[in-house]
Amino acid sequence: MAFHTETTAPNDTANIADTVAAVRAGFDSGLTRPVSWRLDQLRGLSAMLRTESDRFEAALASDLGKPSIEGYAADIATVASEIDDIAKHLPKWMKPRRVKVPLTVQPGRAYVLPQPLGVTLIIAPWNYPVQLLLLPAAVSIAAGNACVLKPSEVAPATSALLAELLPRFTDSKAIATVEGGVDTSTELLEQRFDYIFYTGSTAVGRIVHQAASRHLTPCTLELGGKSPVLVDDSANLEVAARRIAWGKWLNAGQTCVAPDYVLISATHRDRFVELLERSFAEFADGTDTRTNPDFTSIVNERHTERLRGLLANHNGTVAFGGDSDVADRWVEPTIIIDPDPDSPVMQEEIFGPILPIITVDSLADAISFVTDRPHPLALYVFAEHDDTIEHVIDHTSAGGTCINHVIQHLLPSDLPFGGVGESGFGRYHGRAGFDTFSNLRAVLKKPTRIDPKLVYPPYTEKKSKLIRRFL
Ligand code: NAD
Repeated sequence: MAFHTETTAPNDTANIADTVAAVRAGFDSGLTRPVSWRLDQLRGLSAMLRTESDRFEAALASDLGKPSIEGYAADIATVASEIDDIAKHLPKWMKPRRVKVPLTVQPGRAYVLPQPLGVTLIIAPWNYPVQLLLLPAAVSIAAGNACVLKPSEVAPATSALLAELLPRFTDSKAIATVEGGVDTSTELLEQRFDYIFYTGSTAVGRIVHQAASRHLTPCTLELGGKSPVLVDDSANLEVAARRIAWGKWLNAGQTCVAPDYVLISATHRDRFVELLERSFAEFADGTDTRTNPDFTSIVNERHTERLRGLLANHNGTVAFGGDSDVADRWVEPTIIIDPDPDSPVMQEEIFGPILPIITVDSLADAISFVTDRPHPLALYVFAEHDDTIEHVIDHTSAGGTCINHVIQHLLPSDLPFGGVGESGFGRYHGRAGFDTFSNLRAVLKKPTRIDPKLVYPPYTEKKSKLIRRFL
């Protein structure tokens, strides 16, 4: 299988200010405001994904060694159908939203009017390089904004394809794609935008937030971190093991909401590990995952080395897997029982097919383990008892939660997606995304036919008494 090496894509920083200025001129001309323009762009994005899906699958395979069906499902089909859904609901979302007017302000009419923010910058990572660029772009366009899109240089074939196709399917007067690496992102962040939407690591999220603060630009940070899984004693262990193993297998664990580690009691741990091993073995179907076309590669040698480092230094017991090869960008699905909580595998986001299993004494213990650490992007609970599920949700914080499965809470477009605390802030998907990229302008309209003198100075004793009684 051919892989691109990690490169810095074309990086013409001199043109960045011009590109942003051109897109701003497009926005200022009023081009992006009519619903017809917005719908045309959304239809263009959807058509691009559908008609060029073979080329997108090939680019994803080249960048990540993604199985074609995983690339198609996560980066093409679900993205196109969410874009279609946005287009379907857009006319309703754009309407003014009436709100109640209190007696003291009547007569009058009040409403929230969603208006575009202006020029938005969207910076995407490499792990789902189409989805994580185009879904925020779609809601930004739906909200009537102009966009500058910056795909990840770590997925160079996909970045180049997006840069080639976007101008053919969308209006380049208000939608520009800028390819490049850190220098390009840094230069982009020097410009003034009206909104910045960043997806990627927490470390870079801090840099983006600082840069945004220079122009007081609002932003969304879609970050990562360690997403824990609590497997309660009441859980259906067989289903839990299969679903958690799938969450680690998918994209070789390189998913922001991949299950990072599992907390389980000693009573069920060994049986659960056995079931996990069986699930991984079933997925591999008797083949070596190094060459299995259904198993994604690690994105590059640097990340493979990083994962080898996690495997080398944890003081736990490897129950399954443990092998890796830097040249092949391969790390075997691996289960580690009770690694040292201070070791890198329990301190850093794993972002690879390694699954630590932590033995806990009780549900309370599991909850403390989670709450002693930064708020995760996702928290998973496997349990059959509703009171246990509610107890976990009530006593923890997380960007999102999926009960008795992993990752799938991203799919319903009406569930706002985002982090909390160190896993980020801001929400998108569906209408939450439209609202994120809108200025929800507050408007109160008063008629002039009635204008009682009561509320104006001079505040006589009689008027004051009446006002006090009224309020
Ligand atoms: P990455 O290396 O592709 O970086 C993301 C983007 O940031 C790229 O476009 C890159 O050019 C830019 N960038 C990198 N360094 C920069 C710098 N110093 N200044 C400005 N811009 C810079 O991706 P990554 O960060 O390796 O992505 C993996 C991380 O992203 C993981 O932590 C993962 O959990 C997180 N993630 C979060 C989500 C989410 O939706 N919350 C989704 C996917 C990934």
